[in-house]
Amino acid sequence: MICPFCRHDDSRVVDSRPVEDGTQIRRRRECPECGQRFSTQEVALLNIIKRSGATEPFSREKVLVGVRKACQGRPVNEDDLVLLAQRVEETLRSTGQAESEAQEVGMAILAPLRELDEVAYLRYASVYRNFASLEDFEGEIALLRALPSSTKAASSSKKSPENKA
Ligand SMILES: [Zn+2]
Repeated sequence: MICPFCRHDDSRVVDSRPVEDGTQIRRRRECPECGQRFSTQEVALLNIIKRSGATEPFSREKVLVGVRKACQGRPVNEDDLVLLAQRVEETLRSTGQAESEAQEVGMAILAPLRELDEVAYLRYASVYRNFASLEDFEGEIALLRALPSSTKAASSSKKSPENKA
């Protein structure tokens, strides 16, 4: 890191400490040339490239706003949503890239939302993937039915002979 005082092309770290719940690290540096001290801050980058081409930092809150809308009236609590937003962030970070497309955020939301609530998932997918017709819904529902769901698998292992009227 270049010294901001004398432009010497090296500096020495004299102190490091985590800040902001450990999501950032602040370092105190000293220039071996002029002896001045200065601070730097290190953050794990995760920026979202919007459709307009502008970038903004990833926001769990924005994920929550979108998903909350899809979950209106569904038996989903706020803790579930917070956990979902966390999983979305982890998915995006696990790509190892500093930037993700807005599209990828939408994709990262779909899988955990499907596990959480299938109706909310359909609502979200219908907007996000531009469902245009009943056939689109039918196709998606057929896919959902074909998917092994952990909760369903548990309850269907005990088959009862009579169906609900
Ligand atoms: Zn210097």
